[in-house]
Amino acid sequence: MENKNGKLFIITGPSGVGKGTILKKFFESNHNIIYSISETTRKPRPGEVHGVNYFFVEKEDFEKSIKNDEFLEWAKYSDNYYGTKKNFVLKALSQGADVLLEIETQGAKKIMEKFPDCITIFFTPPNLDELEKRLRGRKTEDEEAIQKRLHQVKQELTLAPLYKYSIENDKIEDALEKLQAVYNKEKDIQILKQDGK
Ligand code: ADP
Ligand code: 5GP
Repeated sequence: MENKNGKLFIITGPSGVGKGTILKKFFESNHNIIYSISETTRKPRPGEVHGVNYFFVEKEDFEKSIKNDEFLEWAKYSDNYYGTKKNFVLKALSQGADVLLEIETQGAKKIMEKFPDCITIFFTPPNLDELEKRLRGRKTEDEEAIQKRLHQVKQELTLAPLYKYSIENDKIEDALEKLQAVYNKEKDIQILKQDGK
C-alpha cells in the first residue's frame, strides 16, 4: 500500500480567544490526530506540565536549537520564544498521522509557506471587550504581559482572511462543533482520495 502523508492542521487566534479551552475538549474525543507540543522559554503557568502543555526550556537552549536548524518554525511572541521542533512533526506526518499545531501568526505564516496544503483555522473573539475580559479572567499574566498581548490583537485579526477557516468562539460548544465539522470535512477528503486510488 502506498505510504500516505498525514495532514497538517494549524490553529491560530489572539491570546485569550479560547484556543486552549476548545482544543482540550476537541482532543478528548479525537484520538487520530496528534497535538504537537511546542518548546517555549515562557515560564509554566500553574497547572501546566512539562511535556504535556509545552516543553519549557531555557533561552540559551532554544537559541542553540535555532542555530542547529532544529525548528520547523519558531517565533518571538511577547518577549518569549515559541517553536515547533522538526523531528517529531515530520516523522508523524511521514507515518500518515494528522498533526495539529497551535501556534501564533508569524509561525503560521512560515508553515503556510512550507506546507501550502495545510489546513488553517483562525479563531476570532465575538468582540475585543470580550477578548480582554477572557484574557484578564484567566488570571495567568501580569498587567504588562496582558498589555503586550492585547497590543497585538488588532494586527493579528487582520490576518484572519489568510486562513482557510475562521471560527468565532462565542459559545464554547458552538465553536467546538464548528471545529469538529472542519476536521471531519478535511479528514474525509483524505479518506475519499485514498478510496479513489
Ligand atoms: P487561548 O488558549 O486562546 O489563549 P484560553 O483557552 O486560555 O485562550 O481561554 C482564555 C480564557 O477564556 C479562559 O479563562 C477560558 O476559560 C475562557 N474562555 C474560553 N472560551 C470561552 C467562551 N467561549 N466563553 C467564555 N469564556 C471562554
Ligand atoms: P501562551 O503563552 O498563551 O501559551 O502562547 C502564546 C502564543 O504562542 C499563542 O498564540 C500560541 O498559539 C503561540 N504558540 C504556542 N506554541 C507555539 C509554537 O511552537 N510556535 C509559534 N510560532 N507559536 C506558538
